[in-house]
Parts: sequence; structure tokens; C-alpha cells
Amino acid sequence: MKESLCIPGELLEQLRQGSPCFYQNTKRRTLGSAKPLLPVGLEEIQDAEARLRRFAPLLRQLFPETAESQGIIESPLTPIPEMASRLGREGESVAGRLLLKRDDLLPIAGSVKARGGVYEVLRHTEELAVMSARLRTMESYAVLRKEREMFSEHTISVGSTGNLGISIGIMSAALGYRAVVHMSADARQWKKDLLRSHGVTVVEYEGDYTSAVARGRETAKGDPRHYFVDDENSVQLFLGYGVAALRLRRQLQQMNIPVDETHPLLVAIPCGVGGAPGGITFGLRQVFGDHVHCFFVEPTEAPCMLLGMATGLHQNISVQDIGLSGRTIADGLAVGRPSGFVGKIMEPLADGFLTVTDEGLLNYVKCLYESCGILVESSAAAGFALSRVLSEGQWACPHMENATTVVWATGGGLMPEEIRQELLKSIGH
Ligand SMILES: *Cc1c(COP(=O)(O)O)cnc(C)c1O
Repeated sequence: MKESLCIPGELLEQLRQGSPCFYQNTKRRTLGSAKPLLPVGLEEIQDAEARLRRFAPLLRQLFPETAESQGIIESPLTPIPEMASRLGREGESVAGRLLLKRDDLLPIAGSVKARGGVYEVLRHTEELAVMSARLRTMESYAVLRKEREMFSEHTISVGSTGNLGISIGIMSAALGYRAVVHMSADARQWKKDLLRSHGVTVVEYEGDYTSAVARGRETAKGDPRHYFVDDENSVQLFLGYGVAALRLRRQLQQMNIPVDETHPLLVAIPCGVGGAPGGITFGLRQVFGDHVHCFFVEPTEAPCMLLGMATGLHQNISVQDIGLSGRTIADGLAVGRPSGFVGKIMEPLADGFLTVTDEGLLNYVKCLYESCGILVESSAAAGFALSRVLSEGQWACPHMENATTVVWATGGGLMPEEIRQELLKSIGH
């Protein structure tokens, strides 16, 4: 199989050696010609956003930290010119303005998973509540706080490297569900401890993320009271992530930052199985059309989405098939086989896929901390690697000088103090 792969030999060699790579998506299309190929559209994202608004009064009660935002789970968009200068000094300049999307600060889960994970649990909850007539039209969803007993007869489970488990587990447990998280070997101990402290059942596996998901899927089979959140195939997770695009548009408008023909928007998002960056990219292309350019960033040892896209094989190829380990310090990105569902949708939408070494990740964590005082987990710093691709001239578009680059910081907000200290130590502080 390896020998017959339909992928440029040079790229394959670089991937195998664990060198940082860039793959430009040759199948990208204009939004107009992409639309007929997509299974869902802007309408479904707007529907998801409306659902999140209906649940806001309930979230506000369950999670006091969302009171200020009236129960809406959103994160700031922050200019980080100090980081842009720092990258410049490291020889990796970013064109135009550099912004950081602070999903490490998202309430409930402290990571991008709060978007998709919370949304899917709420959607399932709405369905259960409506079906069992616990929710009448026009009633505030806050009444669902009293339905713990009903929810306790239902199980919600998920397979995860950590953060999705935290999002699904905490949200499900808060509503009263039995929550089960199947964790892969690379999941961090503190993430398991955190979940258990919320009353979530954590099942640990020796295997990787793909096998944890498979085991979880298996245990849920055939039980109508057991809902399995399928990270590899879930449309609902995808739509939940997609809502980020509507929110980002508002934030850019409030900052008077144009996105149009002469003002391109570049967005770099860390990628594991592909759901989070895929959903966000899908939303952004719907909202900004052809003026937004989205890039997925993966560890050099786990470039599953890049490999799936470059070969066109998607979920039918794994990084182990080309001799990579799939092991990385970026636990949220330690995925060996991509979501085929997401990969297919990304064909006409994404601009490029790139990789970064673990060493590179830690360096970005360090630069961000030293220049802006922001500490994110190593997975979450991957987006900065786009600066390498841009400064090496591997990708460019017209009007780059007017560009706005958004680096998506995807997690780290819930790191316990001793883990923060450990991370600080590993970057020399
Ligand atoms: C899960 C995760 C990602 C990537 O999301 P996928 O849906 O797995 O592609 C990125 N960063 C962090 C911190 C994550 O936890």
C-alpha cells in the first residue's frame, strides 16, 4: 500500500522523516462551486446557534462562570502584536495583523471542545426533553434543571484523548446524566482526575485514540438509553464548532476589521481527528466565502488529516501506515487516523495542512508566554506554525499586507497549577 500511495514522493519522504511539512489543498473551490458538494449549510449552523441561545438560561444557572456572558459560551479575540514581533525576531514574520482566538478561556471545558461537545449534549437533551414532554414551547430551558432524575436514567459516552471527554463529561454530569469517557493511553492523568471529581466514569485503555473511540462505540451499541458522541462521524459536533464562525464575524466587526476581496483573513487551527478545525473552517467559509483561508496544523508524528487529504484516502490511511508513531506531547492532537466525514467536506473548503514538531510547539508556547503572558497547552500553540509557512513563502495570496491572521488557541484553561508549573519549567521558567 505504501508504495502505491498517490502523494508526491518528496512530501511522503518529509512526512516519514518527521520534518515540518506543508501541503496546499489542490481541491479547494470557490464557495459557490463548493456548496453543492456539502451535506449541510449555513442554515444548520444558524439553527445550532439558536439552540445554544435557548439553552443559555440553563447554562447560566449550571455554570456561574457564564453569568457575565448570559449563558453564552464564547471566548475573546485578542490582538497580540507582541507575539507578532517576537515571531519576527525568530525569523517567522506574519503578514498584517495577528490575533489570538482565546478558546483556552472558553467556560466549562477550557478548550475548543466546549463548542462542539457542549452543543451535542444540549441537542440530545432537547430531543429527550421534548420527546418526554418535559419541555413545552415558550418555556425557559432553565426548567430542565429539575429533570436530573430523568436524565440519570440515560448515559452519554465518548472516546477522547482528554479535552472532548472533559467537555462532554462535565456538561453531561451537570445535567444529571450518567457520563462515561473512554480515554486513550495518551490522555493526561490530570484530565482523568478532573473528570472523576465531577462524577464521570473514566475507562482507561492501553491503546490509542482510534481504539478508545471504537470501544466506546461498541459499548453503547443497542442500548436506546445510551448516547455515544462519535468524534469521528458526528455532524452535531461539527455544527457546534461551526457556530464559532458567526461569533468570530461579530467580533471582527466590533473591532472594525474588514474581511473582503482586498482584506484576506487567514486562520490557523490545531487539528486532531479534524472535527474542531473542520467545523470552524466550514463555518468560516460559509460566512466569509472566498476571502477566508483556513489552515490545519498537526504534530509531525500525527499528521493524520494532512495524510488523508494529500492521498485522498481520508480514514482509510493512518500515520502508522507510513511508519510514524502518532505519539506527541500535544495530547489533544495525538490522532493517527482522521475523520473521513470531515476530510471529505474539507476537500473544497480548506487551504492547507501543515505540521510542527513537538520542539516547535514548546517554542511557540514559550514565545507566547514570554511576549504576552499567556500560557496555553502545547496542542493549543500549533497554529503559530503557519508563520513558518508564510515566511518561507510556501503559501501566499493577493493583498497579504492587508491580511488579518487569527491563530486559534484551542486549550489550556483548565490546567491545574502543578501542570502549569511543569509546563513553565519545560519552557525554562
Ligand atoms: C481536540 C483538540 C484540538 C483538535 O480538535 P479535533 O476535533 O480533534 O481535530 C485542538 N486543540 C486542542 C487543545 C484539542 O483538545
